[in-house]
Amino acid sequence: MTLQEDRAKEKVWLCLKCNLPLEMGKVAISYMGNAFPVDLPRCPGCGQVYIEEDLALGKMFEVEKLLEDK
Ligand SMILES: [Zn+2]
Repeated sequence: MTLQEDRAKEKVWLCLKCNLPLEMGKVAISYMGNAFPVDLPRCPGCGQVYIEEDLALGKMFEVEKLLEDK
């Protein structure tokens, strides 16, 4: 297993500011006063988190469903 093969297969995101490849990391998303851990691409340089619109909407929907079940 090499890092190069990994990178070729997966979509690599670059931070616009630092030009560094983003790393997946747990980020707490706040919704209705509760924090939920989500895996999101984050810049190791400036800490900027990138959320795709589709992903963000999907997560919000999931969170909403969870809350309604309670
Ligand atoms: Zn950055």
